[in-house]
Amino acid sequence: MQNITILGATGSIGVSTLDVIARHPDRYRVHALTAHSKVDELAGQCARFLPEVAVVGSAQAASALSALLKKAGVATEVLWGEEALCQVASASGCDTVMAAIVGAAGLAPSLAAARAGKKVLLANKEALVMSGQLFMTAVAESGATLLPIDSEHNAIFQCLPGDFSRQPERHGISRILLTASGGPFLNRAVETLDTVTPEEAVAHPNWVMGRKISVDSATMMNKGLEVIEAAWLFGASAGQIEVLIHPQSVIHSMVSYIDGSVLAQLGNPDMRTPIAHALAYPERIASGVAPLDLTAMAQLRFERPDLRRFPCLKLAYDALQAGGSAPALLNAANEIAVEAFLNRQIGFRMIDQLIDRVMNTIPHEPVADIGALLEQDERARALARECLQ
Ligand code: NAD
Ligand code: MG
Repeated sequence: MQNITILGATGSIGVSTLDVIARHPDRYRVHALTAHSKVDELAGQCARFLPEVAVVGSAQAASALSALLKKAGVATEVLWGEEALCQVASASGCDTVMAAIVGAAGLAPSLAAARAGKKVLLANKEALVMSGQLFMTAVAESGATLLPIDSEHNAIFQCLPGDFSRQPERHGISRILLTASGGPFLNRAVETLDTVTPEEAVAHPNWVMGRKISVDSATMMNKGLEVIEAAWLFGASAGQIEVLIHPQSVIHSMVSYIDGSVLAQLGNPDMRTPIAHALAYPERIASGVAPLDLTAMAQLRFERPDLRRFPCLKLAYDALQAGGSAPALLNAANEIAVEAFLNRQIGFRMIDQLIDRVMNTIPHEPVADIGALLEQDERARALARECLQ
């Protein structure tokens, strides 16, 4: 029996994870569930999965949840705040942590799980983008198992040899081919991009996801963050990771070898596949995803991304190459910019301009520890907010 903590249980990934877990009650038990503010949803999940602990974002949310659970006769203990998130991510009663909080808020608990040597299923890419070296060192030192949930990275993982050592050259790998759908604005006239609405930006053609990652997909910052994520997960350099637009989202990524072989992972665009893969790894379990019908498929297309249409992708490659705190600055500025766009404070094209401004104003530095990292993160957020005024 695997005992699981789900950080971000009420989100898109959290809900898909519970859907897979519910199919295998003989294999998985829920240790803890967390949510920021969706107390009603979390109460419903607690009543169904009976975790030992539930964590929310504030004292107010905690008392609302406690009242709901009491009424329903559910004995789950209720806690709140970042320390409690770290506690349920590292608790001795949990073996596996699904890290599915969105953004930098997920860094501390994801890192706590890594330090505690858990099996960490990583959806929260922002945590790895921010803390890259520190996170990977924590995993190595504690003996944690890190498995990627992001569909592209999960696909790449599945296309790598079993004894992969984070040294692509040693295994005859020439390139990692990271596929991208291109999002909702792939074919929209570039001059009209500044007038797109948040509703248009979050309407992804192939995937149903949270609002922040949906906007990131529209700017292709999501792919940029994924390039940095892939660099850390697979020990690859920027030059070894190529982004390829593939609008059908059927091939989830590929690995190209020096002998000319290209291995790909295919499937319907449904996150329950990578979630089930990582939960059961190295075994396989049913996920509820419909089998892929190749005969029903139209053409599979591939093209190179246009960096004038998607400047965020270039900003992310630049940050990866710069190293140190540059990816953390990029991520922080992006989080502020996306929030401002979703709140209709700025236009769509201001997102990349704001990030560019922050990256060009704050010099990136080597990051020795989490304290230094959070300082840089805060500096970037403060400057981005100042630019918004
Ligand atoms: P979402 O917005 O649907 O859910 C986010 C979850 O995080 C919610 O449970 C919310 O309660 C929690 N949360 C938000 N702010 C918080 C805070 N300050 N403190 C504590 N908890 C907080 O997001 P999502 O689409 O499920 O994405 C989650 C993560 O997974 C992101 O990092 C995203 O990039 C990654 N991811 C998502 C998908 C997808 O298909 N949705 C695919 C690949 C990767
Ligand atoms: Mg992805």
